Amino acid sequence: MVDLRGIATVRKHAEELISRRLAPAEPRNDGRQTPYRGHPVFVAQHATATCCRTCLARWHDIPAGQALDDAQRAYVVEAICRWIANQYAPDAPPS
Ligand SMILES: [Zn+2]
Repeated sequence: MVDLRGIATVRKHAEELISRRLAPAEPRNDGRQTPYRGHPVFVAQHATATCCRTCLARWHDIPAGQALDDAQRAYVVEAICRWIANQYAPDAPPS
């Protein structure tokens, strides 16, 4: 369960998970690095097509094979947090 206060925490987790699992030029187990259940960030990654570098390239025009830069990381984290906020707190004002 993610309450409104929880979004800041979710954002922090998203930043950590993205930089570890998605941002490297060649992420470990790319294509299978994001579980389908568990942390809300994982669920959001599948919902927003930010789960692997193939999806990022196909749906977000972020080329595979190179590390994500700061702007791209921020973009991915933002997409995830926006989805989670909508999912769990549709009436919450944008943060
Ligand atoms: Zn994917």
